[in-house]
Amino acid sequence: MWDIDKKLSNHIDSSYSGQDRDKRGTINMTEDVLVFLKPDAVIRRYIGARTIKEFLDAGFKIGYFGEAYPSKEFIETKHYAQHKGEFFYDWLVDYVTSSHLLVFILTGDDVICEVRKLLDATITENADCNSIRGRYGIFGGINVAHASDSAENGKRELNIWKKDVIKIERNYDYTERADAYINKYINFSMVDTIRYREISKQLMNEKINEKEAKYLFVNLLSKESDLNREIISRFAEIMIRNALSRKEKVVEQ
Ligand code: UDP
Ligand code: MG
Repeated sequence: MWDIDKKLSNHIDSSYSGQDRDKRGTINMTEDVLVFLKPDAVIRRYIGARTIKEFLDAGFKIGYFGEAYPSKEFIETKHYAQHKGEFFYDWLVDYVTSSHLLVFILTGDDVICEVRKLLDATITENADCNSIRGRYGIFGGINVAHASDSAENGKRELNIWKKDVIKIERNYDYTERADAYINKYINFSMVDTIRYREISKQLMNEKINEKEAKYLFVNLLSKESDLNREIISRFAEIMIRNALSRKEKVVEQ
């Protein structure tokens, strides 16, 4: 899939927590974080490229970057095991497994906290409008990317992903791979995220039906993607379920 030759680099297989003392004598914690672009940002090519670019522009080093195809079982029983029983759990598993993912390991001082700041709040509507999720999150929990939320979870997630899903090759230039992705997709066509929000709300408010919403979603996603129709159609159904479940939630309150 990747058309980039392997090159030797000084890359070090993502290792844990080095400590560095800066000139003022403060201790900086260099840590790793597992991040992945969720299907909305994988399908919407520009949004994915933009998100990766923002992580790189923030100065984080890339210890790994690649496509991943975790099994449904892995997402259910390992990655999102802590959410089992939540009202959004079944939907979340289907959402995250509706296409391949783009996984990173980012390294830097306080990288977990910094990446979470760039992403901001879980629910799109609560995220700062300048944050990644605030700008590109579609609605509710469709929110562009996952990032570990604490050092403890970061460690746990890196362990399980390295064991079951990703294979880090020493001396592989993952930064070059990420740059190639950005260059390929940063000028790709893009639909204003507001359109997806409007359609979700129209569906929620019964101004349009599911069939109409699916037609509109598929149409818009196709403009933003070079992925196949099957993936796009599956993700359109995820957006529909998301909007309908949020309607039920509003009614319940
Ligand atoms: N989620 C949702 N509704 C909620 C809470 C979470 O749809 O009320 C989804 C959302 O996609 C979120 C994921 O479940 O990113 C995992 O939830 P978590 O609380 O771990 O949020 P995160 O760490 O991703 O901000
Ligand atoms: Mg979380």
